[in-house]
Amino acid sequence: MNNQGKVDECPKCGSRELGQGRHSGYSAMTPVGGILGSNIMYTICSKCGYIIEGYVTNPKRFKKR
Ligand SMILES: [Zn+2]
Repeated sequence: MNNQGKVDECPKCGSRELGQGRHSGYSAMTPVGGILGSNIMYTICSKCGYIIEGYVTNPKRFKKR
């Protein structure tokens, strides 16, 4: 494991052809009990389709009140 934070290789198939995808609009992530959600960004292997990482673009909206 490396802890460099930046993924540049698919852990499943070893491909370096990674793409970026996102969920927005109706498929955005919404906090439980909340209204305002956040888009989700993904790093996806464009060879095998494995989702390497996913994160919301607005994490503060998921903070517990
Ligand atoms: Zn892959």
